[in-house]
Amino acid sequence: MAHVSYSVSELLENLHIEPVNSGACYGDWIPNPSGGEIESLNPATGELIARVLCAGPADYECVVSRAREAFLDWRMIPAPRRGEIVREIGNELRAHKADLGALVTLEMGKILAEGRGEVQEMIDIADFAVGLSRQLYGLTMHSERPGHRMFEQWHPLGIAGVISAFNFPVAVWSWNAMIAAVCGDCVLWKPSPETPLTAIAVQKICNRVMEAHGLKGIFNLVIGANDPIGEMLIQDWRVPLISFTGSTEVGRHVAEVVAGRLGRSILELGGNNGIIVMNDADPGLVLRAVLFGAVGTAGQRCTTTRRLFLESGIAPCVTEALVNAYRQVRIGDPMEETTLMGPLVNRRAVDRMLDGLQRVREQGGEVLYGGEHMMGCFVRPTLVRARPEMPVLKEEIFAPILYVIEFGDLDEAIHWHNGVPQGLSSAMFTTNLIATETFLSHRGSDCGIANINIGTSGAEIGGAFGGEKDTGGGRESGSDAWKAYMRRQTNTVNWSGQMPLAQGIEFQL
Ligand code: NAD
Repeated sequence: MAHVSYSVSELLENLHIEPVNSGACYGDWIPNPSGGEIESLNPATGELIARVLCAGPADYECVVSRAREAFLDWRMIPAPRRGEIVREIGNELRAHKADLGALVTLEMGKILAEGRGEVQEMIDIADFAVGLSRQLYGLTMHSERPGHRMFEQWHPLGIAGVISAFNFPVAVWSWNAMIAAVCGDCVLWKPSPETPLTAIAVQKICNRVMEAHGLKGIFNLVIGANDPIGEMLIQDWRVPLISFTGSTEVGRHVAEVVAGRLGRSILELGGNNGIIVMNDADPGLVLRAVLFGAVGTAGQRCTTTRRLFLESGIAPCVTEALVNAYRQVRIGDPMEETTLMGPLVNRRAVDRMLDGLQRVREQGGEVLYGGEHMMGCFVRPTLVRARPEMPVLKEEIFAPILYVIEFGDLDEAIHWHNGVPQGLSSAMFTTNLIATETFLSHRGSDCGIANINIGTSGAEIGGAFGGEKDTGGGRESGSDAWKAYMRRQTNTVNWSGQMPLAQGIEFQL
């Protein structure tokens, strides 16, 4: 085993994390927020990393009102100038990639390569946003009236509220925040209470960049209880957009509350991702993609591979290879460079996995490998031979459980694949053109993401990311996802000197 290459105290010092930290910031930190204290624990050891003082209602009010004021000026800065500032944030993230990535690992439990990978995604989306800041294009259209010019413009919305999940504690914020910032919005972040320190570290990085430009209130943070702070945020009419990433259960509530005040929401909810493997697939590619997709981040990605549909001819060899590969997964301290799978985020997550496995067994699933709790928050990744009609297959159990299901006919496999409430990511492995096109056609995968010969996890920032059905329908990150952070305005300028009325109406006085 390699030695732990990070001293925790050095890491915390480099990122300016104190033993006790404020959890409310609008550029300046509120010194003693009133929402009580939470502890951030290392899931690998159970040790305390640091404490956080949460925002209470008065602190929330203070942060929102400062963000509202800041928006008035920020929206008037030309978008390419805002892009320049986002570029500096990207550069600061580059400078802190190793430390911030290690803090993600320490606090959340994903392995170091994944922690650093998450920070790389932040850097990538910052770069994307810089380019985007010069491309917030509107359309022009030909007016039916002479001497009239018609066009569309995109204006900033105001405050974008970002509620993030524990499993991507910093990347999800950046997918929203970097884009929202170049669009001219201010950002108010409520991170998961499981991962407050990574949020504080990111806020401090932003503060330094913004301070150099004499700016405050553009990037804001409230760490606080779901009730009242989360509830205040989703109910707040001053926050026109809520971008929520988390479970379908909480997301459904958020959607209802935000819709009730006619606000906008971007919903990035649970997944239940499947891969269909055809007989002609390359088993070596399948094995690597499935192993990374199912075991990576200890099965705690929204895009984790949870269901593997194997055509009968290839099923025995892939199943056997997977059992062998699962035996070799190095489970341990995620801060060790050689570890492949770290712990689950907390003991509740372990209990939920064990409960789920109980249902799997009751419904006739055959555990081919794993299925046990090891110690603390560590579990063994689990392979299950399953039948397609088992109700548990419709659930997202947020843990490393992979169901293997054999099929004989592609239409049947697609039917089973789509027969779950969620619709995030999907993949097919094949070299057959017709199978490929069938999977990508209107009668193929019903997910937001459908890949060929790469797995379900590891989306690039350049594409719009999100899923259908119970995954919520939101899109964020690349492509034209920026439009959700702005309001569209249609403009007509009459330079004709005449007043022709629409629909040819004569309205004589
Ligand atoms: P969660 O739903 O428990 O919590 C998500 C966030 O919602 C947290 O910040 C939490 O504090 C907040 N929250 C809870 N109640 C709230 C309320 N009443 N008002 C406002 N905020 C509230 O999810 P989690 O356990 O942190 O994350 C795991 C889930 O997230 C999984 O279902 C996973 O699939 C999903 N996820 C989806 C994506 C995606 O892009 N589709 C990405 C990452 C995670």
